[in-house]
Amino acid sequence: MASDLPPPRLTRDLTQPEAIPEAGIARALELMRSGRLFRYGEMGADQLDVSRLEEEFAAFVGRRYCVAVNSGGAAMFLALKVAGVAPGDPVLVNGFTLAPVPGAILHAAAKPVVVEIGRDCVIDPDDLVRKASSSGAKVLLLSHMRGHIADMDRVLETCTGHGIALVEDCAHALCTSYRGRTIGTFGVSAAFSAQAYKHLNAGEGGFLVTDDPVMAGRAILHSGSYMLHGQHLSTPGPDVIETLSEHVPNFSMRMSALSAAILRPQLAELPRRAERWNRIHDRIAAGLARSQHLRVPERGGDHAYSATSVQFCVLGLDADAMEAVLERAQARGLPIKWFGAERQAGFTSAPRHWRYAGDQGPLTQTHRVLAQLCDIRTPLSLTDAECDLIAEIVRDAIEAVVAARRDGRHRQKASRSSSQGREP
Ligand SMILES: *Cc1c(COP(=O)(O)O)cnc(C)c1O
Repeated sequence: MASDLPPPRLTRDLTQPEAIPEAGIARALELMRSGRLFRYGEMGADQLDVSRLEEEFAAFVGRRYCVAVNSGGAAMFLALKVAGVAPGDPVLVNGFTLAPVPGAILHAAAKPVVVEIGRDCVIDPDDLVRKASSSGAKVLLLSHMRGHIADMDRVLETCTGHGIALVEDCAHALCTSYRGRTIGTFGVSAAFSAQAYKHLNAGEGGFLVTDDPVMAGRAILHSGSYMLHGQHLSTPGPDVIETLSEHVPNFSMRMSALSAAILRPQLAELPRRAERWNRIHDRIAAGLARSQHLRVPERGGDHAYSATSVQFCVLGLDADAMEAVLERAQARGLPIKWFGAERQAGFTSAPRHWRYAGDQGPLTQTHRVLAQLCDIRTPLSLTDAECDLIAEIVRDAIEAVVAARRDGRHRQKASRSSSQGREP
C-alpha cells in the first residue's frame, strides 16, 4: 500500500448547527417588525409564541406543565428551588455531566455531593445508595449526560427508599426513553436546554416540566411573570398562583418571544431529526467498535436514545498517549474532546475541575472512566462517508500511537539486551 497521498481529512466543521427552519425565520422577522419580543403581551395567550411553545413542549414530553426560561441552567436552578432546596442543603449529582449542573446547585446556594459513575458513564447505583445515606440529601439532580440513561429502576428505588426527590437534567435527553417511559417523566420535574448544541437551538433557552401544580406555579412566578401569569396556557391556573404570588420572588429568567418563534418549528421536526442523529451515531459507533483499543459505552437495549454526539473509551493509553491521539486526529481535521484532560476545554469538564463544589473525596472510579472517555459532536449534516471517515481517523490515530509505543518499547528492550550482551 505504498502511496504518497496524504490520508484523507475531514473537512466538515463539527460545530456547524442546523439552519433554523424557514417558518421560524419568517415568524422571527414578523415579531421583529412588530417589536413585540417580550413573552407577555396585550393579545390573547393563544397568540403568544412562548405560551404556545410551553403548551407544545409539555405535550411533547408528556407532562402537565412546562415553564420556558432563558437557559437550561436556569431551568435546573428553578427545579431545585421549587423542589424546596434551601441554602446549605446537600444535593446529589452524578459525576459525568457538564459545569452548569453543579453550577445550578451552587446557584441555589446548596452543596453538591458527587456520586460515582460506572464504566458505561451512568450513575453507579451502589454509590448512590452510599451517598444518599451518608449525606442525608433530599434531592438528586440526575444528569442524563449525552443521553446515557442510568438504571432508572434502581435510581427510583433508592430515591423512594430515602425520601429523595428526583430532578432530571435532560439537556441531552430529549426524545429518549427507558423501558418505554419518556425520560423527563421520572422525576418530580425535569430541565431541558435549547442552547445551540442541544436538540433544539435558540442559541439560549430552557424548559422546566412537571406534573405538580404548586411547583409549576412557583416556577412561573420565579421565572418573572409579574402579574401576567394569566397569559400562560400551560398553567395550574390563577387559584394556585395567586396564593403563592406574595411568597415567591421574581428571578427574571424569562424566554424571549423570538426564541420561541424559532423553536416551535424545530420541535415539530424533532422526531425526524432524532432518527437521523441516531443513524449518524450508530454508523460512527460501529466504525469505532472495529478497533480493539476502543470501547463504545453500552446503552441498554431497552433505552431509546437520540444522540447528538458519540462517546468512546480509549483503552490502555496514558495521558501523553491520549494527547498524541488527539493531536493526530486534529491534524486530519477531527476535533476530539477528552474528559480526562488536565484542564477543562470546550464543553468537557470533570468533578476534579469543580473546585467550587468543595472536597468530594477521591471519586476514583469516575476519574478512571473519564480518563479514557472521548466525545465527538455529530451535526446532522454529516454524510455516511464522513461518518466512516471519522471512525477511520480515530482508529488510525490510536493504531499509530500504539504502534509507536510498541516500537519504542522494543527498541528500549533491544538496546538493553544488546548492551547487556556487550558486557564482559
Ligand atoms: C448544556 C447543558 C445543560 C444546560 O445548559 P445551558 O447552557 O444552561 O442551557 C445542562 N446539562 C448538561 C449536561 C448540558 O450539556
